[in-house]
Amino acid sequence: MQELIDYIKEYGTVLPHDVLKVDAFLNHQVNAQLMKHVGEEFAHRFAGEKIDHVWTVESSGIAPALMTALALDVLMIFARKHQSLTLKHDMYTAKAYSYTKQTTNNISISKKYVTPGENVLLIDDFMANGQAVNVMLEIAKTAGVHVVGVGIVIEKSFQPGGKKLREQGLRVESLAKIKSLADGKVSFVEE
Ligand code: 5GP
Repeated sequence: MQELIDYIKEYGTVLPHDVLKVDAFLNHQVNAQLMKHVGEEFAHRFAGEKIDHVWTVESSGIAPALMTALALDVLMIFARKHQSLTLKHDMYTAKAYSYTKQTTNNISISKKYVTPGENVLLIDDFMANGQAVNVMLEIAKTAGVHVVGVGIVIEKSFQPGGKKLREQGLRVESLAKIKSLADGKVSFVEE
């Protein structure tokens, strides 16, 4: 998606440990027009699928997921992160390791908003090692929900998450694919 690539080129900065900072339009300040276009692009790419719900993980996935839900005219759920040791029986819960914060969290979705057999589209801001998506897949499996695909705003293609999920047969659509962040320079996968 050229508009997104242009934003990354203009505002993205490279931090140590291969982290791309996009606080100017996605992860802190949010550009609503760009997110609207992101949502429309995901809705367009998954137009052939029956989708009942959009799922993401708080907090950075919320903006693109909400706009996708709006474009698809369905409800969106953001899984909550918490460090609670007590498992609640009214929630589906799985453990996730945060790449940027280097902490482990429980990720939960209330059973109240999940219907077994429904079709769900997973959305997230970044794909690195695939942890965030894997945790949603784990919850979907436990809940008996069908995942129609995964929409990622920025995929770091030099990290293994996207490749592994595609090898499992999952449809993964990424709007910008980063080839490398070496030497502080952002380079994109040519498509
Ligand atoms: P994964 O679970 O695929 O390893 O990483 C995905 C999650 O980590 C995303 O939800 C995102 O919040 C965070 N993340 C991973 N890499 C980056 C990055 O380079 N920049 C930013 N801003 N977040 C990242």
